Amino acid sequence: MNAKRPLIAVLTGAGISTDSGIPDYRGPQGLWRKDPSAEELVTIGPYRDDTKVRARAWRMRLETAGLAAEPNAGHRALVDLERSGLPLRVLTQNIDGLHQRAGLTARKVLELHGNVRETQCLSCRVVGSMAQALARVEAGEPDPACRECGGILKPRIVMFGENLDQEVLGQADSVARACEVFVAVGTSLQVFPVAGLPYNAVRSGAKLIIVNAEETPYDAAAAEVIREPISRALPRLVRRLVLEGA
Ligand code: ZN
Repeated sequence: MNAKRPLIAVLTGAGISTDSGIPDYRGPQGLWRKDPSAEELVTIGPYRDDTKVRARAWRMRLETAGLAAEPNAGHRALVDLERSGLPLRVLTQNIDGLHQRAGLTARKVLELHGNVRETQCLSCRVVGSMAQALARVEAGEPDPACRECGGILKPRIVMFGENLDQEVLGQADSVARACEVFVAVGTSLQVFPVAGLPYNAVRSGAKLIIVNAEETPYDAAAAEVIREPISRALPRLVRRLVLEGA
């Protein structure tokens, strides 16, 4: 009974949040295919260089702030997994915070692409609250500047053209190498460095399970590939993992 319990790593991508009404921006029906100018709002070059782009980005963020998405059965299944007592780490490419909203312990979630709860200054890197920045936009500042240094503020997300936070990526890589089961959910596994995580997991002896509607480059290396919709497939998979791990 004292045997070491197997660490489970779950990597989540846009697919887990589409059932919560959050579009997969890059997918076939994605916003950026329909409106390429929207992509500027999350691309570091135009954002840094053009105050009009920033003003549009803040306005869009203010308008969508009230449309808080709710976690779905997929997010809740991972909370059940945590509550079963099995050691769990969630590595997410999503910035929506829905894992934590569903009830997952915050320190068990590594946000590879950052989050929209906070802002960060491009110059002094100070971190602030998104709610406070949006209040300033609402009060009439189209492009609120950093209160510490006057620099440009952005949401604390990894924009296109920016690198991932190396510390967060390093932690995710350690989890991938240490886990016994690596579940990849709703992610195409096509973009590095995140696509290197399942590779390192398998190379370190983990069992790979993929839950994704479309093929991924790792399907052949996986012990199991599940194509069903995530909000149905994940609760079932979690029940099985809990039974096997008990
Ligand atoms: Zn600053």
